[in-house]
Amino acid sequence: MLSPLSKIRSRLKRRRLDALLVTQPENRRYLSGFTAEDTSIAESSGVLLVPFRGAPFLLTDFRYQLQAETEAAGFEVQLYNRGLMALLKKLLPALGIKRLAFESHYTLHSTSEALEKTAKDVSVELVALRNLIEKIRERKNKEELRKIERSVALNEQVFQEVYADLYEGMTERDAAIRIETAMRLKGAEGPSFETIVAGGPNSALPHAVPTDRPLTKGEPIIIDMGLKLDGYCSDMTRTVALGTPSEKMIQLSRLVRKAQLAATEEIRAGKTGYEVDRTARRIIAEAGYGDRFGHGLGHGVGLAVHEGPSLSKRNRKKLRIGMVVTVEPGIYLPGWGGIRLENMVAVEKDGGRLLNQDTTFLDL
Ligand code: ZN
Ligand code: ZN
Repeated sequence: MLSPLSKIRSRLKRRRLDALLVTQPENRRYLSGFTAEDTSIAESSGVLLVPFRGAPFLLTDFRYQLQAETEAAGFEVQLYNRGLMALLKKLLPALGIKRLAFESHYTLHSTSEALEKTAKDVSVELVALRNLIEKIRERKNKEELRKIERSVALNEQVFQEVYADLYEGMTERDAAIRIETAMRLKGAEGPSFETIVAGGPNSALPHAVPTDRPLTKGEPIIIDMGLKLDGYCSDMTRTVALGTPSEKMIQLSRLVRKAQLAATEEIRAGKTGYEVDRTARRIIAEAGYGDRFGHGLGHGVGLAVHEGPSLSKRNRKKLRIGMVVTVEPGIYLPGWGGIRLENMVAVEKDGGRLLNQDTTFLDL
């Protein structure tokens, strides 16, 4: 299997591009192993310059020098003391770069204006490129899959630990803080997204933010959590209850679980994201809740918690071996609450391989 760097080079060649400037943080980590994060899109910890030929560069500033030299094996580290543009002005002509691609989906407009000016000064043609590395990242190699499996396993451990300690009257916020603390104590870099703990009516919001509302017996409690381990993300949702769940909650849980199982069964290389989504959606719609399942069925997971491919109406492309997706159907009833169940599945030739071991479902 070609290394990511060789894949990028062959794509650069096809488009007659001399180099690619990489600004997107996960892409930067994917190619170089440099783990630093950006404070924001306006305050980057470094960019990669990947020429079609020769050693790639990691351009960063003094703060990250040691980390860059230690982590980015095979990359030549250069520091921009007077700003990235000044360094590029020297570097691009020195490397004979005439056509430079940049990641237009992850460049501030002000940065692209500065880049435009710099490129003009040294007679370089700028080419806007979108999602080139993201597409390559969608298919994971064996090592990446192992890292994802470890991330999933640790996330489940944290879930079980905190789930066992939930009690009536505990606030959503308290539960979320315990989850995120346990993640870090167990060695995760941190949560892969803001942990969701939502009880009762709050669970009707797919993207609920934990509040000071106390958890109550019998109501649905959605816990959606994920962590980052060795760069790779996990993402899992369980809907649980303290005490005896209501009959309605049990029925809806069974329905969502049925949709999840059917969609998981459908996953294999060659099926489209649309087809898998449709399978789950049909089951929920036939039970009369079609309009209460308002989001896509799933998304890719890797270095980013939300990446390609999506399992939704919009994705008519075929799934390919090595992709990792979530399967997360849900039903949300305003005023009452919601049920969502989420697992991660690796796409294989003849089927989907469930990466989760956790079996905390109400129908079991
Ligand atoms: Zn999730
Ligand atoms: Zn998700």
